[in-house]
Amino acid sequence: MRKINFGAGPSVLPESVLRHAQDELLSYEGKGFSIMEISHRSVVFEELLNTAKKDALELYGFDGNEWEVIFTQGGASLNFAMVGMNFAQDGKPCEYVNTDVWTKKAYKEAQILGLDPVYVASSEDESFSYIPNANFSDNASYAYICSNNTIQGTQYHEYPSTKAPLIIDASSDFFSRKMDFKNAGFVFGGLQKNAGISGLACCFIRKDMIELSKSKNIPSMLKYSTYVDNNSMFNTPPTFALYIFAKVMQWLKDMGGLENIHKKNTQKAELLYSTIQDLPFYTLHAKKEDRSLMNVSFKTPTNELDKLFVSEAEKEGMIGLKGHKLLGGIRASIYNAQNFKNVETLSEFIKNFANKHA
Ligand code: PMP
Repeated sequence: MRKINFGAGPSVLPESVLRHAQDELLSYEGKGFSIMEISHRSVVFEELLNTAKKDALELYGFDGNEWEVIFTQGGASLNFAMVGMNFAQDGKPCEYVNTDVWTKKAYKEAQILGLDPVYVASSEDESFSYIPNANFSDNASYAYICSNNTIQGTQYHEYPSTKAPLIIDASSDFFSRKMDFKNAGFVFGGLQKNAGISGLACCFIRKDMIELSKSKNIPSMLKYSTYVDNNSMFNTPPTFALYIFAKVMQWLKDMGGLENIHKKNTQKAELLYSTIQDLPFYTLHAKKEDRSLMNVSFKTPTNELDKLFVSEAEKEGMIGLKGHKLLGGIRASIYNAQNFKNVETLSEFIKNFANKHA
């Protein structure tokens, strides 16, 4: 019996993807070997990779003449440093919006690299409960944001308008909705929430940003253009992670693409938010206008009740609800693979818990 998994990442995968992987574990497409046992240079693997790349571009509507898809190792986090290494330009500031942990980490890497990064906006004044407006300089090297703040449960519903290339960490709302990427130069995300398993990041990189990367004298594995020039196979890539990614892309297409997934994600989030906000027993962390469709962070009146909520939920088969240690409380992650019925089950639990303890 599978649990209902509200974990923030690694998180629930579509059951059909897991079953497909299980079926193919010994024999990929009936060929008599598993995908983990075959050369990444084989036609079989290259076909899988190229199909996955094509699907990823198509799902988001990226123009394949303007954009490339690459896969970097070291999770999303290695990109925090790579962004600065590849895209910073002399005399042009590296600008960041501070929406807490994930942007702070990226900012810190830029500091270590001696790039003198600057915060052009922050929501620290109100415990990072909202998305601040930012005015980026037209001549910035880049404008860096985190699309969805996994811990706080805040999310951009529209990306800021910038002249400088927008760099977007989309780790926790990857492939969850169609967005307007007109100012974006680089969009990246770890795969372990909406797109597969951990350790690997998928990155969309605009052609002019590839040129910029090419001009840098940095180690090969830290240079985005190396990944472009070698179809993300400069070294042996984690082939099983790419296989799962390919399966998730196919699943997204079967689900009717990102418009349809977005609709479903909106329905789930609306149910959960309306249930919680109707009960004065609970406090939601994020401001209404910036609430995330992916991570819902909230609290009961006391730490003890938060803990009890999590342990009682576990008894009813719901796991992963403990809030991040920085924020405490409760967090329900309702990524693509979480279905509406499971969110209904949680909503009922939320009501019953409040009735019992209010
Ligand atoms: N960015 C965001 C928004 C995240 O939520 C996370 C992980 N939770 C990361 C980056 C880091 O990802 P990884 O662990 O794959 O490096």
